[in-house]
Amino acid sequence: MPTLIKSKTIKSLEELVARGLLDANNSDKLAEVAAKYSIAIPQNIAGMLYSDAIAKQFIPSKDELVTLERELADPIGDDAHSPLKGLVHRYKNRVLIKLVEVCGVYCRFCFRRENVGDNKGQALKGDELEQIYGYLHQHKEIDEVILTGGDPLVASVRRLKEVAENIAKISHIKFFRIHTRAVIANPEIINDELIAALKASQKSVKMVIHTNHAIEINDAVKVAINKLVDAKIQLFSQSVLLRNVNDKPEVLAELFNTLLQNNINPYYLHHPDLAKGTGHFYLNLEEGAKIYRETTKLVSGIALPKYVIDIPGGYGKIPVNSGQVIKTSDGFILIDNNGKRHNYPIL
Ligand code: SF4
Repeated sequence: MPTLIKSKTIKSLEELVARGLLDANNSDKLAEVAAKYSIAIPQNIAGMLYSDAIAKQFIPSKDELVTLERELADPIGDDAHSPLKGLVHRYKNRVLIKLVEVCGVYCRFCFRRENVGDNKGQALKGDELEQIYGYLHQHKEIDEVILTGGDPLVASVRRLKEVAENIAKISHIKFFRIHTRAVIANPEIINDELIAALKASQKSVKMVIHTNHAIEINDAVKVAINKLVDAKIQLFSQSVLLRNVNDKPEVLAELFNTLLQNNINPYYLHHPDLAKGTGHFYLNLEEGAKIYRETTKLVSGIALPKYVIDIPGGYGKIPVNSGQVIKTSDGFILIDNNGKRHNYPIL
């Protein structure tokens, strides 16, 4: 169990029923879902569940048992670019380290859901991390290390500090980036000790916060954000475009403006990945492109993230509203940044 998560977290269907968040009749039908994909709803998120847009992201649904032919276990192709366990080297200058395979909250649309969850994978061990540090020392083209997971901020402060200190020893690394949902889900963990651990990297520390709706930026989250801003950690956001969560231009505009007002630079709006059992969150590319175009009319350029899709198979991200996405009679062609063309289903 992650050591940092101290607040009460709903971890089962029974607790959801007991808290009045799930109908007891539905609970039986959801046992199979819960056995496959973990549940975790911490206190801060539980307080937002009055909103359907939030509830849909975290309360299990029987729709998760529906797997479509197009859906993949590894939708963004991490495995194709993994030279070592827990390391993804997809782009020349940067790597991902998947430090842990657990999160403080489990999103029902998670793109890594086949590997992320309680009892699914294990946190990287000391010798596995040593191998990764060795790889980083050797690969001088890498100037950025991104901690991801799962959620890296559920690792212990001791472990985070240890990783940061090892990154500090590699002079060609300039940036230390953390991808996390914990600022939203478990804002209480953002404290001086955690911030000092990240800063032990002696690099330029950046944080990318996963958030999908303005409701998620509540008072507790604002306190956490202010601590990070005071510590001069530059903040960015990444959001996923999700059906019945944020698939309206006004909802996205409110999210992006709220982020900007709170010193978070809107960075990416992701088209949903083709993860198993997530079809009920899915929108097709044309629908997404239209919503994004309408959103551009409602916010300033500085509040507008890039709308991107990860090409399945590990071919990287491309902008959706661009010449790299071409509609055909039976689907789409996605053109990766090397000019290679990939078929993509129309849905
Ligand atoms: S926080 Fe990220 S990794 Fe964890 S369940 Fe949500 S989307 Fe998946």
